[in-house]
Amino acid sequence: MPFSRRWLMKFAAAAIGWASTLAGWFPFSKFASANMLKQAGSETQAKGTQAKGKMQTKTHVAVIGAGAFGGWTALYLLRHGARVTLVDPCGPGNARASSGGETRVIRGTYGPNQPYTKMAARATHLWKENERRWNLKLLHQIGVLWMVSAGKDNDHFERGSLPMLREAGIPYQELSVQEMASRWPQINLEAVHWGIYEPEGGFLTARVACQAVLDGFLAEGGEYQQLAVAMRDLDGGHWDGLSLSDGSKLQADQYVFACGPWLGKLFPETIGNRIRATRQEVFFFGTPAGDQRFSEAKLPVWADHRDKFMYGIPGSQGRGFKIADDTRGPEFDPTSGDRAVSAEGLKSVRDYIGFRFPALKDAPLLESRVCQYEDSPDNNFIIDHHPRYENVWLMGGGSGHGFKHGPAMGEIVAGLVLEHKDLDALFRLGRFGK
Ligand SMILES: Cc1cc2nc3c(=O)[nH]c(=O)nc-3n(C[C@H](O)[C@H](O)[C@H](O)COP(=O)(O)OP(=O)(O)OC[C@H]3O[C@@H](n4cnc5c(N)ncnc54)[C@H](O)[C@@H]3O)c2cc1C
Repeated sequence: MPFSRRWLMKFAAAAIGWASTLAGWFPFSKFASANMLKQAGSETQAKGTQAKGKMQTKTHVAVIGAGAFGGWTALYLLRHGARVTLVDPCGPGNARASSGGETRVIRGTYGPNQPYTKMAARATHLWKENERRWNLKLLHQIGVLWMVSAGKDNDHFERGSLPMLREAGIPYQELSVQEMASRWPQINLEAVHWGIYEPEGGFLTARVACQAVLDGFLAEGGEYQQLAVAMRDLDGGHWDGLSLSDGSKLQADQYVFACGPWLGKLFPETIGNRIRATRQEVFFFGTPAGDQRFSEAKLPVWADHRDKFMYGIPGSQGRGFKIADDTRGPEFDPTSGDRAVSAEGLKSVRDYIGFRFPALKDAPLLESRVCQYEDSPDNNFIIDHHPRYENVWLMGGGSGHGFKHGPAMGEIVAGLVLEHKDLDALFRLGRFGK
């Protein structure tokens, strides 16, 4: 065949998607009046198949958004026996998506009393399982060093992380400053009191992994359309399928919306500003030629937790020494926001790098990016069905830490949608009250 399906989809996106995306992501055609939504509390079908007369047909699930959450969810829904259609106007890990860019940290250190350490352990297992299946390298276990600068009475986060790591079976070492100094003399450990080292933590490729998930999904029989769902208020219901940007309709038995920072626009009443996009700057610096001290071979991923939370990924597969400040930036429009970094942001990371990594004081800036976090009010993920429609599912609120959990989230949501599995109330919409 002269044109593959993917080529045709990309062509359609180029022809239709981009112009409309820039214009505010598509005008909306009218929804038909028939209501295909299932009111919450009504009977739903379970498992990947449903009875239709005497015939057994697969449950058809539409997943909207092919980022870290939607892509993995589509894949696990498929593996749980559903027919799955995934849609995204700009493709997996695109430059506007929160899952875009080069790399993401994977770690289990998450503070006390939270579900994320165990989730990270499960996700690590699934990343490795899928890497083997696809014969790809996505997870780079170069270790994570957590530098604890908080005083003795103020290190509850790190102290509370240790039993959680033990319980989740994530290996770690508790290190004194002396031990850290002898292992990583390239770090100035001034004001650091102790450290946690996770030898099996590290980094994941970001946009490359999102594409790998889509490729895996297609290879296993998933359907993908590079199109946008009309950005209209979907809270009101009374819609019979989703209007897509090429004028077609997508009808399914279940709908999973994983639209990252855009979720509040589609569901202004249920989500609205419960997901707030913040502007985050990321910098890549050039290390001295031939100097391995700042490469992934000699330095782990690091996190410096003090008044600010700074973190970095050495090497970043040739992109340079990545460094970012986790402090939440100002509100940001993920569609039209300007993605040039600020002079203040650059000065602040330069000052920091000169302090913590003195040999990189004058390192040249190679690249910079602006990405957005999509924060929920409590920084916990959102996974729930729509309060009025039990076949409409909302997932998001990655809050600057969602990427690593992609496969574990996919597994959880597939279990919820197809098998009515239980879910921690921490993720439910009910926690926000009315
Ligand atoms: C700078 C930065 C650093 C981070 N660091 C880490 C880290 O180190 N470790 C970690 O675990 N996490 C990290 N995160 C967080 C993590 O990347 C995000 O939580 C995660 O990628 C969110 O994925 P998502 O699928 O919810 O959203 P997205 O990736 O934004 O995906 C949403 C998708 O929905 C699509 N979409 C939107 N509207 C529509 C529509 N109308 N119709 C169809 N599709 C639509 C978009 O095109 C997009 O592809 C970081 C995030 C940023 C920005």
